[in-house]
This record gives sequence, structure tokens and C-alpha cells, in this order.
Amino acid sequence: MWYNKNMSVNIYKKTYDYLSDLFPNATCELEHNSAFELLIALILSAQCTDARVNKVTKVLFKEYNTPQKLAVAKQEDIQKIIYSCGFYHNKAKNLIACSKDILAKYNGEVPSSLQELQTLAGVGRKTANVVYSLWFKGDAIAVDTHVFRVSNRIGIAHGDTPLEVENELMQNYDKSQWSMLHYLLVLFGRYHCTAKNPDCVNCKLKDICEYYLQRKK
Ligand code: SF4
Repeated sequence: MWYNKNMSVNIYKKTYDYLSDLFPNATCELEHNSAFELLIALILSAQCTDARVNKVTKVLFKEYNTPQKLAVAKQEDIQKIIYSCGFYHNKAKNLIACSKDILAKYNGEVPSSLQELQTLAGVGRKTANVVYSLWFKGDAIAVDTHVFRVSNRIGIAHGDTPLEVENELMQNYDKSQWSMLHYLLVLFGRYHCTAKNPDCVNCKLKDICEYYLQRKK
């Protein structure tokens, strides 16, 4: 499994440098103009593409772009707008509950700490990490399906759970790289190292990638 353990190449640096070259302007692809809009877009993005979420939030945020407005919305009205994102019943419920939490616990402002963010309805560790790093400029690595898969494939982290992968990535990379690493791995997983059909032929990580080297044996 640990093909790279005794090799002289620094797999962490090589991966970071290669992905930075591939995506020099890597950032979150969800459109937003406030911490609240980012939070809502992230809740909607579970099991849904960013492109679809961006279409939906264009409509949703015309009327419901603050916790004050969304907290008093009718669930059926929100469901109709967000229907195409999937899981619309639960997502609508969470959007409203999250808005109510922000009003009740944080005076209508999205909280800026990881711990507080995770007290909001519908907000797990991954979503909290993204809001914390992208909007509040904190250092965090959100582990979504792409980060999880790509990290394990290359071998820059090994874990059975997102938390294990997150902890290992944090050990293997400098704090200043954590947030960017998230975006780089997301984009690489989305467009190159895809779940079903990774583009290994054109990938410059072939010589260090555990997944590729294992399959070649
Ligand atoms: S070699 Fe293939 S599996 Fe490995 S990182 Fe590149 S695309 Fe992904």
C-alpha cells in the first residue's frame, strides 16, 4: 500500500504543486455574496452539483437572502424553489431551521467559529470548514467526497472516514496550505480524478499515485 514511503520524492509537495499548476485560480464554485448565502448554498449542495445549486440560489436569494427572511418562509414555498437540488423536503426544513438558529443563537449573524457553525441545523463539519475557511479566512480542510477519494487514491492521506482523512492531511501539510488544498482536491476530483473514470493517462501523479501503481501491478 505504502509505495511511496521509501521514495525520495515528496508526494505531498508534488501533489500540491501539480494541482496548483492545473488550477491556478482554485476557489469555491458556489456563487454567494455573504456568509449566509454561502452557508445556504453549501446546505443545498449535498448530493447536488454546484452548477445546479447556482441556478437555484439565483432564484432563492432574490427573495430569501437573509436569515430574517428565510426563517419566516413557508416550507412548501422553499421546497418549490429548491426542488431540483434533490432531498428538497429535508433541505428546505434545514434551511429554515438553520436561519432560525442564526437568529436565536447568534443575533442574526452567521457565527465565525468552527464550533459555533456546527451548532446550526443542517451544518456538519464539512460545511462548517468551508464557511470558516472561505468566508472567515480560517485554516481548515473540508473533506467532501472528492477530497476523500483523491487523497486516498494518491496516498497523501489514508482513512476510512472523512475525519481521519482531514486529520492526516492536516498533519501532512502546512496550515497555510489547508484551505487551498481543499479547493485543489475538489477540482481535481471533479474534473480529472473522477470517481468512475479517472484520467490516469494524462495525470502527472502516475509515478506516485498508490491507486495507479496498485492497478498496474
Ligand atoms: S494517476 Fe489516476 S487515480 Fe492517480 S491521481 Fe492521477 S488520475 Fe487519479
